[in-house]
Amino acid sequence: MNEELVNPCRLCPRKCGARRLEGETGFCGARDAVTAARAALHFWEEPCISGTRGSGAVFFSNCNLRCVFCQNDRISREGFGLEVSTEKLAQIFLSLASQGAHNINLVTAVHYLPWVAEALKKARESGLIIPAVYNSGGYESAEILKAFRGTFDIYMPDLKYVSRELAASLSAAGDYPREAVAAIDEMLDQTGPAVIDGEGIMKSGVLIRHLVLPGHTREAISVLRLIRERWGNDVHVSLLNQYTPMPGIEQRCTDPNLSRRLTAREYDKVVNEAIRLGLENVFIQEGSASGADFIPEFDGEGI
Ligand code: SF4
Repeated sequence: MNEELVNPCRLCPRKCGARRLEGETGFCGARDAVTAARAALHFWEEPCISGTRGSGAVFFSNCNLRCVFCQNDRISREGFGLEVSTEKLAQIFLSLASQGAHNINLVTAVHYLPWVAEALKKARESGLIIPAVYNSGGYESAEILKAFRGTFDIYMPDLKYVSRELAASLSAAGDYPREAVAAIDEMLDQTGPAVIDGEGIMKSGVLIRHLVLPGHTREAISVLRLIRERWGNDVHVSLLNQYTPMPGIEQRCTDPNLSRRLTAREYDKVVNEAIRLGLENVFIQEGSASGADFIPEFDGEGI
């Protein structure tokens, strides 16, 4: 394990310098060992990721963003999870593969990158051949991703904001737009344009997600314009309409829009802009299933 990256920790753009191997914790709350809240087949990702057999999702505890509207509070803010060694994590990856998973889906792993990379290496040495998906909030350091080049086959970053003010007020990360764009440049440089197999499953590539926030369609449209301008159709895009106000949001945020769901009209406006821009590889969500339906049980299953 590359101790230099975590002691002091500079794994993410916060570079908060916590000496994690000596017991300190930084902004994200992660310690000196991996903790995870769930490992199971997951059927709610985009069709090219979940396919018919499911994505082998491992949900890691803690988060380097902790957005005020976070949809996975129990693991990101509360840090729920069970400690797991790299040997055990490698076994978990192999178990998910043996259950038929199309890929290993590493959900919010930035603060555990060296451990996760080591576990993937061990699993590959023991026969793991399915792609590894790096599923991220998008607040990543391009320099760190470069250091792990060759580890991941698919990148699935959020691109939450292009506005520094919004990023600062909702995620305490005014530099998010700059860092996320540089990180996605690096991700695409590593994978190249997407490779999709005959069954419609992604084997490599970049899929950018944007959760459309109620009252913030202008921001969503700016995100789409940036994607079109910078990466064109080399990336896939997923527009999510599943925003759900979580308990306590009113105390954490003064924006009253975030206390309600997204309307169909707001979502349609954003989807229409994606079409107008000529984005070809866009996933949209249909229907109005409650966003809570997309939130898995974080109870330690599979860990
Ligand atoms: S990963 Fe966590 S401890 Fe490391 S720099 Fe980022 S916020 Fe700080």
